[in-house]
Amino acid sequence: MVQCGHGPRFRVHEVRSPEPAKSGVQNPESRVKVKLRSRHLLGIEDLDRSEILTILDQARTFREVLDRPIPIVPALRGRTVVNLFFEASTRTTTSFSLAASRLSCGCVNFSKATSAVSKGETLLDTARNIEAMGVDGIIIRHASPGAPHFLSRHVKAFVVNAGDGAHEHPTQALLDAFTLREKLGSLDGKRVLMVGDITHSRVARSNLLCFSKLGARVAVCGPPTMIPPDIEQYGCEVFYRLDRILDEVDVVNMLRVQQERITSSSFPTVREYRAFYGLTAERLRNLAPEVVVTHPGPVNWGVEMDFDVAEFSRALVLPQVTNGVAVRMAVLFLLAGGEGEVRS
Ligand code: ASP
Ligand code: ASP
Repeated sequence: MVQCGHGPRFRVHEVRSPEPAKSGVQNPESRVKVKLRSRHLLGIEDLDRSEILTILDQARTFREVLDRPIPIVPALRGRTVVNLFFEASTRTTTSFSLAASRLSCGCVNFSKATSAVSKGETLLDTARNIEAMGVDGIIIRHASPGAPHFLSRHVKAFVVNAGDGAHEHPTQALLDAFTLREKLGSLDGKRVLMVGDITHSRVARSNLLCFSKLGARVAVCGPPTMIPPDIEQYGCEVFYRLDRILDEVDVVNMLRVQQERITSSSFPTVREYRAFYGLTAERLRNLAPEVVVTHPGPVNWGVEMDFDVAEFSRALVLPQVTNGVAVRMAVLFLLAGGEGEVRS
């Protein structure tokens, strides 16, 4: 049963974590009080482990709602959010819209192409005008890193970062973590390999932070031109040859080559990229039986992954999309001041 509070935006609420405590002592019955510290969700950087688990536990309740014949709860009845998307997206806008509607929350979509932004209106003007129409939350995607942070300092509504340039995409990281926990039980001690365009990928940054905070050991692999030189300071291992590391990991997190953000040529040809870094049919056949594969979408089939991955039973690409709705429901619900009954 989910209830909604109308008090301060964040409430202290109880969480029962299915993951062992850092001490290694597992007590599945223990319940800890956790308070999310921020009014907004701007990045995984701002969240600690217990806040991440709060969101993931809340998402589990909503994931069950999605399996009901009528998958709607009245949790945010009377509230409204806006999708303020300045960059192309199909999956994320739809996912947030669905998440809002499953919570009985109104959702309006703003598209850059048909707005007064094309007449020169600034981001702040646009947001303030939309807020003046009475929205409770703003979900923003923007090509400039930091745009959601800027907005959050100037509006009263809560702000959710749905992707800011190559910086962060926190709800993608949360839905990836949710999907992996459903499959693997816990990320503590698991080895996760992210493959591809680490430099230009906001998913890579958010996932690295999120998986590490949940206790996973993260490694990255890609061409040297696509790996930030200082990445080891984030505590991850770096590999330049996929075949050296592929059989040592629990999770392979493939990433899209971010053509739209690449200004100079980062690899000689697509064929070469696939040969060195692609999850080809042959590599797939050689994976250890328990390894799972994720990808945030959209996939460049034939580049970072062969189409065979779509048929692979341990590829989690579609469950990631389904779970994305539940995770975004949890984020909207908690940011709007909801209080959940969290079960493990
Ligand atoms: N990058 C897009 C998004 O996250 C993917 C898509 O458009 O399908 O929404
Ligand atoms: N959909 C994800 C994003 O918007 C991943 C991608 O586009 O490669 O960042």
